[in-house]
Order: sequence, then structure tokens, then C-alpha cells
Amino acid sequence: MNDVPKDQQKTTSPAAEGRSIHPHVENSLPPPIFQTATFTFGSAAELAAFHDGESKGYFYSRYGNPTVAAAARRLSRLEGAEASLLYASGMAAVSSVFLALLGSGARLVLLGETYRHTRDFAELLLARYGVHVKILEDASPDALASVPDAPVRVLFTEVPSNPTMRVPDIEHLAEWASRRGAKLIVDATLASPALLRPLEHGADLVVHSATKFLGGHNDLLAGAISGSQPFIDALAEQQALLGDVLSPQTAFLLDRGMKTLNVRVERQSQTALRLAEFLSGSKQVKRVHYPGLESHPDHETAKKLMSAFGGMLSFELNGGPEAADRLLDALKVPVLAAGFGGTESQAEHHARMAYADLGLLGAEKRGVAPGLIRYSVGLEDIDALRDDLAEGLKKI
Ligand code: PLP
Repeated sequence: MNDVPKDQQKTTSPAAEGRSIHPHVENSLPPPIFQTATFTFGSAAELAAFHDGESKGYFYSRYGNPTVAAAARRLSRLEGAEASLLYASGMAAVSSVFLALLGSGARLVLLGETYRHTRDFAELLLARYGVHVKILEDASPDALASVPDAPVRVLFTEVPSNPTMRVPDIEHLAEWASRRGAKLIVDATLASPALLRPLEHGADLVVHSATKFLGGHNDLLAGAISGSQPFIDALAEQQALLGDVLSPQTAFLLDRGMKTLNVRVERQSQTALRLAEFLSGSKQVKRVHYPGLESHPDHETAKKLMSAFGGMLSFELNGGPEAADRLLDALKVPVLAAGFGGTESQAEHHARMAYADLGLLGAEKRGVAPGLIRYSVGLEDIDALRDDLAEGLKKI
């Protein structure tokens, strides 16, 4: 009992000690995994004190769980946010924030390249519920001028975007959103808070697929939203209804992943920059998309907003889609797999991986160049990755 923090001691009666199995943390350094659906009360009085708000604690894991809360607190510190809420996947976070803010008749603007399923959720599902969805593929300042004068509830964008790493100027978007009475939501999955903290640049909310750099090891699915305490409290109430919570085991892994976020992403960014420079110098490469290159259209904005340019790049080959397939077959280090942001490098022919059902032409209509290779840089040795690319390019 001596190890129990004071605030926990006062709500735990001797009777409760006999009836609760393991309510205490026992000074564990990492947050213990509270693998439980529900939480026990020692008496009717304890239950009443909990419901009256006189004692803090947990009730049922769909409403909150200490392991999940610990991971959310770590994310808030990283983001510089008042509060964060974790979800079962990135898509759960995206869909939940849209459901929270939008309703019949409301207007949503999706700016720039957006993750395919975010766009599908908006166009296929939200539209069914009467939300007006405007897609602005062009993220330039002029594009926003084309949004009709009608009220806009949400402006949503990804920074950097996927797969060509565009970096819309969040500060400019925040000004526009506040003028139009809209909330600005930034999906900063590709940057992670190691490189970009959108709330500091005027965004109202930040969304993540925590499956990617935050988790960082390709071994979990999770999502997150960070913002003001009142908004996150409202989202938590909604989450109790939707039930799209993160499990305690996964929250533990996510929390552990976030401990090394900064060092991982710093190293991934250094390697990615060197690979981008190497690829830019290759005669077989038509175009490299990496915001760290001066040739990237958003290089200056990226320098302003981000502390480094991230672990993701994409490139197109002169030989087109067939050459892209040959290169991917020749590469020995990166795995061919969907996803990104983990310790293992991953490379994919983006149209074939993420738009297989639409075909190369369908993907192109969505703005994905046929033959574009997306490369997520892991923690392997830079020389091994560059030599592998050099060897692969010889074989196409
Ligand atoms: N946002 C972005 C930018 C993504 O790339 C993804 C998935 O790749 C998601 C959201 C959805 O995340 P999840 O796969 O964790 O549901």
C-alpha cells in the first residue's frame, strides 16, 4: 500500500482491497497494461463518489483506460496540445472528427492530395448524410479563392501530403479558416510531431494515423486527434458511443514507440534527404518529390514549418510504370508492402498498391502518376539503402 500514490489511496477503502484484484500501479516505470474491460468499486459509496465526481478513476474501458490515457498524455506533450484522444486506427480518428464537426448541410473542404480513404469517406459516406464536400486538389493559395462564399465548417488538409509531399502553408490556411469561421484540421501523419506541430501554426486540430511514425515499428494500428481540452472531451463522449477505442495492449506499444519518435524520425529524415539527392542525380529518374530538395515546389514552406523534411519520398522513372515494377522487383532492402513510417524501409508502386481496383488510369485521374514509387525510409544504414537503389536502377 505504501507504493500507491496518495490520490489513489484515498478512494480505496480496506473493503475494496479485499475485493479488487489489482487496482494499483506499483511504481512501474512504463505504464502497466490495464488489460481490462471494466473497473471495480469497493462499495456503493465508492460507486456513488465516482458518479458524483468526488473521486477520480475508471469505469469501463470504452469510456477510458489508464494505459490508453498514458499514451494520449505522451502524444499531447509531443504535439504541444492540451489534450489528445486515441483511436483504433487512423481512419477511425479521421471519420470520428468529421462526424463530430459535420452534419447535414455543413460544408467540408478537402484541400490538396488526401489519403484515398479520407477522400472516399467524405465523398461516399458524408455526402450520403447531406454534407457538402468540396475537393480542391490544388492546394495553392489561389485555389481557396474559388470556394463559394457559403459558410464552411471544416477545412481539412494533409501536411505533407501523400504521395508527392506537398506542404500547404498551415499559417495561411489557418487565417483563411478563421476568416470563414471554419475549423482547420491538419493530418500530419507524414511529418509526425517530431518535425511539425500544426497547433503552433494555427491549426485547430491535428489528426494522425498513429500506425505510421508515432507507432513506428509496423506492428500496430492506431489513430489520434489532438486539440483543445473541451473539444477532446466532446470527442471522448462521442467515442463512448461509437466505440472506436484503442486497446490497452496497442496503447502500450504506441506509447513505447513514441518514446523513440524524435531519434527515429531525425535519422529517417537524414537518410531520406540523402536518398532524394542521390535519386535526383540519376539519369533514369524523371522527378523526385521530397520537400527537402530545392526543386520541390514547397521547399520554402517546408523550411518554415518543419524542423526536417521527413522520412518519406517519392519518385518517377523515365521508363514509366514498367520500369517502376522492375525496380521494385530488383530492390533487396525495402519490403514491398502498404503503409509507411516504420523501422523497415518500404517501397511501393503507389498506383498499383493503393489504387489497384481503379487501375493506372483511374489512379492518374486521382492525381497519382503511373509509375510513381513511394519510398518510406526505415532505420537501415544509409549506404545499404543507396547501394541497393543504385544496383536496382542498373537492372531496369
Ligand atoms: N491519414 C493518412 C495520411 C494516411 O496515410 C493513412 C493511412 O495510410 C490514414 C490517415 C489512415 O490511417 P490507418 O491506416 O491507421 O487507418
